[in-house]
Amino acid sequence: MLNSFLDLIDKLEKNGSLDTEEYKELLKSYKYPKERDILAAKACEKRKAIYGDNIFIRGLIEISNICGNDCLYCGIRRSNKNVTRYKMDKSDILSCCENGYCLGIKTFVLQGGESGCFNDDVLCDIVHSIKDRFPDCAVTLSLGEKSYKSYKRLFDSGADRYLLRHETIDKTHYKKLHPENMSYENRIRSLNDLKEIGYQTGSGFMVGSPFQDLNHIAKDLKFLEDFKPQMVGIGPFIPHKDTIFAKEQPGSTDLTLFLISLLRLILPRALIPATTALASLDKDGYKKGIKAGANVIMINLAPEGFKEKYQIYDDKICVSEKLADSFENVKSIAEAENMKIAFDRGDYKFDV
Ligand code: SAM
Repeated sequence: MLNSFLDLIDKLEKNGSLDTEEYKELLKSYKYPKERDILAAKACEKRKAIYGDNIFIRGLIEISNICGNDCLYCGIRRSNKNVTRYKMDKSDILSCCENGYCLGIKTFVLQGGESGCFNDDVLCDIVHSIKDRFPDCAVTLSLGEKSYKSYKRLFDSGADRYLLRHETIDKTHYKKLHPENMSYENRIRSLNDLKEIGYQTGSGFMVGSPFQDLNHIAKDLKFLEDFKPQMVGIGPFIPHKDTIFAKEQPGSTDLTLFLISLLRLILPRALIPATTALASLDKDGYKKGIKAGANVIMINLAPEGFKEKYQIYDDKICVSEKLADSFENVKSIAEAENMKIAFDRGDYKFDV
């Protein structure tokens, strides 16, 4: 097992590519600590060569939990009547940015459910106001599928980056996770539009989502290898009590960590977060994610009254944590790993 694992890693490092069957073969090693450690060491070496010892921090602002979509796995899905819905206004959002900026955060990630509750005019005004007030900061949006025209308007208003996980590249699997009226083709079209417009584009998927197996993940890796996103977000699936997947098993921490390392080898320059989902499932998730080759941690900037209402899965962490404590936590992770928090925008380093 170890030999074929090492051969495949060698091949990936040399060619920057494997075929789907080879990815599948490689994935079988995720259960073995030795293989995980070898992969993690290689991933950290790659990260260091490109991004040095930096951990990039992002200020996450969950601007609304109102969602018109009914994704079967998500706690804020439209049909969940147990959610107290909210929508931040521009002054709430700017005050989150202000609090983050005081800590040195220079990327604000505006994430939310998909609905018309913010129309393009309102969103463009918010993006423009953030950039006007914090000109040395980047704005990342994570607001789901939109038309080319809307993405372009937001980009022209100053948005720099967009996160939109593809969720799964297997069409049959996609249909098992989403209702009839959601379209796989539209998700992919959205990702292509974002890249064409010029956003630093992020994609990714949940690890261990219902019905997922290693074949699906191998195909997801091949898709990411080809699509070459600048950011890749992967986190374990965690069930939410008000969804039909309430009784499903959560994703595996070991597999998530293995995938973070593998993605660092496939896309060495990618900005890869140690996600909140990983840290919600494993109390050392942020640290383990960084040790596996991630280089981004998001800090939730929303005040109490908002963040406890954005429960996309059960037992989400940081819901009652004070902002200063979250920041100190990331600082101590960086120190423990002989790394440092980077106080710049933390843009993707394009190959020049
Ligand atoms: N609506 C936007 C979108 O779809 O991109 C942004 C918000 S959505 C809640 C952000 C991400 O949360 C999704 O891409 C999905 O991968 C993740 N997510 C949703 N439910 C989850 C769950 N039960 N466990 C883990 N991650 C989940």
